[in-house]
Amino acid sequence: MSDAAIPEPAPCRECSAGMMRLRFITYFTWLGEELITVQNFPAWICDVCGHREYDEKSISMLTMLLNPDAGKPTSKQRIPHRTRPRPAPRPPAES
Ligand SMILES: [Zn+2]
Repeated sequence: MSDAAIPEPAPCRECSAGMMRLRFITYFTWLGEELITVQNFPAWICDVCGHREYDEKSISMLTMLLNPDAGKPTSKQRIPHRTRPRPAPRPPAES
């Protein structure tokens, strides 16, 4: 088995008519109250019914990345809240 090979489409388990194809999508997940978006996330999507399956390895890797407790003992590290840049104030309108 070579890991450099491009995975081939597999028959869909849901409708068994379509083929699951590897696509790179934007994956959304919640981390606490924050919505996390992961771009170019590999997913298998059926071209007939749209059934979607995620790559197991990618999911577990993502879960590990997103879980603040992953691989750490009991360190109490707080992640600072992200602050949004404020929009520039508008110049006063001509009067
Ligand atoms: Zn299908």
